[in-house]
Amino acid sequence: MTETVIIGGGLAGAAAATLLAHAGKPPLLLERDAAPADKICGEFLSTEAQAHLAALGFDVGRLGGAPISRIRLVAGARSAEAALPFTAIGVSRRVLDAALLDHAAAAGAEIQRGVSVRGIDGGSLATSAGPVNAGTVLLASGKHEVRGAARDTKGTIDDLIGFKQYFRVDAAAHAALAGMIEVHLFDGGYAGLQLIEGGVANLCLLVTRARFAALGRNWDALFAALMTEPLLARRLADAQPLLPKPLTISGVPYGFIHHASPTDPARLFRMGDQAGVIPSFSGDGMSIALHSGRLAAHAVAAGADAATYHARLRGDVARQIRLATWLQRAGFSGIGQRLMIGVIGIAPALLGAIAGATRVPEPALKRAGLAIS
Ligand SMILES: Cc1cc2nc3c(=O)[nH]c(=O)nc-3n(C[C@H](O)[C@H](O)[C@H](O)COP(=O)(O)OP(=O)(O)OC[C@H]3O[C@@H](n4cnc5c(N)ncnc54)[C@H](O)[C@@H]3O)c2cc1C
Repeated sequence: MTETVIIGGGLAGAAAATLLAHAGKPPLLLERDAAPADKICGEFLSTEAQAHLAALGFDVGRLGGAPISRIRLVAGARSAEAALPFTAIGVSRRVLDAALLDHAAAAGAEIQRGVSVRGIDGGSLATSAGPVNAGTVLLASGKHEVRGAARDTKGTIDDLIGFKQYFRVDAAAHAALAGMIEVHLFDGGYAGLQLIEGGVANLCLLVTRARFAALGRNWDALFAALMTEPLLARRLADAQPLLPKPLTISGVPYGFIHHASPTDPARLFRMGDQAGVIPSFSGDGMSIALHSGRLAAHAVAAGADAATYHARLRGDVARQIRLATWLQRAGFSGIGQRLMIGVIGIAPALLGAIAGATRVPEPALKRAGLAIS
């Protein structure tokens, strides 16, 4: 029997694997992708996420990401701009996740790539490489459900479709995006546009199923609709798409927070998106994933039970997830969008305040042993 098995080698899984290895309990981590892959994500790495990475002994600076210290909110011809209360980094998940898995392996974790977990029954895992028995299971499969441990996502916002495409933009767009994340509100959705390493721009957007259906369920039609937004059209006018087709995802359960129940398996620890899903605009999903990886690793190393860990994680992140989910609902209505731009136009500092209020709070980070500057 393997003492601890981690399912999923995204940020939550890699963080927990590194910390368990540091604690002298190196786990086995199973990742279904055989090689580094692009992931749908805005790739906005918050300061909290950076602090978590630093606490793992991981130098994110060497990945050459793009610093981001300002935010511009755009709706139609109107826009408002503010300083962020921190400097974020734009870095691709392909590069970040692969480097972090290598870091976990160097710390002593056993990483098996190309192995998919198909079902969980207590400590028995059915995998593409055969059965595995585990004393403790850390579930970090992100957006993907694993049979036998699916999330209860009733009441969440799951009617959105996500798209991501990379672009090589022209010099004017590059200059306008330097140091900036732009959030473009449009009918039925919003899009984030920012630079990542290598000067590439990441366009990551969410649109309601209803709006996408009205556009004939077609990316080209959606993109053409986006190009009627004046500022977005300026940014992407001469841009070259870099992926053969955009990455897409649907059914992400925004607002989900795992409620521990007495029927939960005692040794199943949910991490990252399997524990809670914050709306994407907050740019804090990666930080929550890393935070959960840290708390879970400490709990497992200390012999604590899963219920205690889940209650602690919930206490740290539930308020932020609820607030961000409420703001996301407001942002999708036409009135909500106009109100947001109007209010923020008068008091731009509000943008920074919203960015601050939807993050893992400082006391929770300090309790988890992080040095926050
Ligand atoms: C549209 C969109 C935009 C976003 N933008 C941002 C942003 O800008 N900033 C931010 O901080 N957050 C953002 N997020 C959220 C962020 O991407 C997630 O919260 C974060 O990736 C969760 O990390 P994780 O480790 O839980 O899961 P993931 O990073 O998804 O990793 C899960 C891993 O598990 C593997 N896996 C899945 N199933 C199995 C299986 N059965 N067996 C083995 N392996 C498996 C997958 O291959 C994957 O590598 C965004 C999310 C979306 C949907």
